[in-house]
Amino acid sequence: MFNRAVALMDLPPGLEEKIRVCNSTYTVRFGVRLRGQIQTFTGYRSVHSEHMEPVKGGIRYAMGVNQDEVEALAALMTYKCALVEAPFGGSKGGLRIDPRQYDEHELELITRRFAYELIKRDLIDPAQNVPAPDMGTGEREMAWIADQYARMNTTDINARACVTGKPLNAGGIAGRVEATGRGVQYALREFFRHPEDMAAAGLAGSLDGKRVIVQGLGNVGYHAASFLRDEDGCLITGIIERDGALVDPRGLDVDAVRDWIAKHGGVSGFPGAEYVENGALVLEQACDILIPAALEGVINRTNAARVKAPLIIEAANGPITAAADDILRDKGTVIIPDMYANAGGVTVSYFEWVKNLSHIRFGRMQRRAEEARTRLLIDELERLDRYLGDAWALRPEFKEKYLRGSDELELVRSGLDDTMRIAYQSMREVWHARPEVKDLRTAAYIVSIGKVAASYRAKGI
Ligand code: NAD
Repeated sequence: MFNRAVALMDLPPGLEEKIRVCNSTYTVRFGVRLRGQIQTFTGYRSVHSEHMEPVKGGIRYAMGVNQDEVEALAALMTYKCALVEAPFGGSKGGLRIDPRQYDEHELELITRRFAYELIKRDLIDPAQNVPAPDMGTGEREMAWIADQYARMNTTDINARACVTGKPLNAGGIAGRVEATGRGVQYALREFFRHPEDMAAAGLAGSLDGKRVIVQGLGNVGYHAASFLRDEDGCLITGIIERDGALVDPRGLDVDAVRDWIAKHGGVSGFPGAEYVENGALVLEQACDILIPAALEGVINRTNAARVKAPLIIEAANGPITAAADDILRDKGTVIIPDMYANAGGVTVSYFEWVKNLSHIRFGRMQRRAEEARTRLLIDELERLDRYLGDAWALRPEFKEKYLRGSDELELVRSGLDDTMRIAYQSMREVWHARPEVKDLRTAAYIVSIGKVAASYRAKGI
């Protein structure tokens, strides 16, 4: 995918190679005493590009973690950050572990030990390398990592900025947990603002009533599905999970399914919907929008030709293999690429990092001042209101909305929405302006590689 994009760019070959390769990968094997014996774990932290520092990227807990995967995901982070203009290089980490096999205390011991190994080599550091959650990790793990860093760097006033995705009470930011899912929603909203782009997928109208199938009802999939259902009127006609899939053409209640999974460990047995044991088959069902939000490689050369969705938005990282990408492109499927589609997480992580470095919650200084100024205007309008009598009156709901200053959550959403719109527009401009660019993914690569190349050039490399 990278090669396809650079073939359409005019980069010196040396620079092209410099951008492509992964700068470094650190492998750590460490022991933790658990249940009376020492267990050895293998973890990685890979740095793809340091054209901007700190470098940024999540830490994944999964059995499939390996060096190749971590390096590929680190590269994706470089391009993702460049595309959404988050001032970071790309990195990624992973620990080969099945977190469901350990209790909370054991996971804390393992996470702190892994963090210790990375911190002492500056592979976690507010100025150099800032992790975030990924598959299998969340706020809880990030809080342990932040605390571990603070213990090892007692005088670092910016310690909290060493990791993002923390809980609010430990230096997190409002709206981070749902940020990636929210970003997927904003990405789709922006796509649906451009009739020309919708037509490329054979779609028309608005998001309202569109049939959506989502794979993976975890952090990203759950939030994307529930926002699209509750706020945009989409019908979630299929949910694919580890143990199978649920299908209901009338639309599934996403919260009820999530509660069911939490109680029963899977989707099977959920009342009122058809259960399909081989969940992967549901990827091939007819729908308007397919959202793979679980893991990579799920759409590959074996099933791509049968995937019917005209629009796929890659909420997960790398859910479509390169071979499947070719098949789908030839079929005319429009793919909103991962590099853009799931960048909501890193965007809000960027806001969290800025908040930690500035040591103040967004909106704290200006919110009441903003309210006082709007109050002045409302008072003046009300004076006019009395003068004009019944002919004209301010609606109470307008007054209430207009008077309220923005809190942190509103500011975060506004920043995320703006980021997703601008990044989409930068991709579509290249997609439409250059006939040799046939898809959004190639356009996304061209935009982001162009930005990384500009950074290297500015450094004199
Ligand atoms: P998560 O662990 O919260 O959720 C993953 C979900 O997928 C779980 O519900 C799991 O049961 C399900 N799943 C696992 N294997 C499956 C299978 N074979 N078939 C169907 N479902 C399966 O993880 P997440 O944080 O939501 O991440 C999902 C994807 O999004 C990953 O590719 C991750 O790299 C990417 N991503 C996450 C973020 C973030 O902020 N969390 C940001 C960017 C990208």
